[in-house]
Amino acid sequence: MPSRRLLLAAFAALAIAPACRAEIFEPVAQPADNPAPFAESRATIRYWPVVTTHPRWREVSFETDGGGFAGVELRRFNAPRPAPRADNPTRRHVGIDLFARPGDAVIAVEDGRLVDFYPFLRARTGEMSYALLVAHDGYVANYGEVRESSLRDNGLALGQDVGAGQPVATISDTAQLHFETYVSGTSRGQSWAHGAPCPARVLNPTLLLLDLARDGRRLTP
Ligand SMILES: [Zn+2]
Repeated sequence: MPSRRLLLAAFAALAIAPACRAEIFEPVAQPADNPAPFAESRATIRYWPVVTTHPRWREVSFETDGGGFAGVELRRFNAPRPAPRADNPTRRHVGIDLFARPGDAVIAVEDGRLVDFYPFLRARTGEMSYALLVAHDGYVANYGEVRESSLRDNGLALGQDVGAGQPVATISDTAQLHFETYVSGTSRGQSWAHGAPCPARVLNPTLLLLDLARDGRRLTP
């Protein structure tokens, strides 16, 4: 029989369907004792970042004010993460993992400029995924866990401007987009050690992604 937590998560995932999300559950600020500010978008033309047919494409995971979790607990901002380094036994999840399939296109959620691209996380298949940092109006987004060939395949170079909805990367073998947000001016993603305060430049992407899920334009393959 499923645990109460699983039932809550399933119910909360259903509850974030567009029309009723705000009335039922709101994300809890993370971490509770010293919350990271939420990333805010000023753009009027905005897109969901993944071009996918994955049936759970719209799912944004977060801790709810009802004491449960929408989506998948380990995919949310501030979820615990194991790490293999002895000097950093655990860390916190700085982003939110969005469902996707390897090879799916990643598009800019709004107009922006490409600011950095570097190795990020190794997939179980052995592929080294990359992080693509894009400066948007008011925040910087890390489109994480994309293929090394992302810029090349899209004819892009760092420093270049990209438009809302423009393909910028490809989902790696991790089969998800790890989406982080930072204050403007950030050029490198940051890690968050367990027990440490949230790094000062980190913004909580939960409300931005919920807004994009609700009213962002969606491209399909
Ligand atoms: Zn992640």
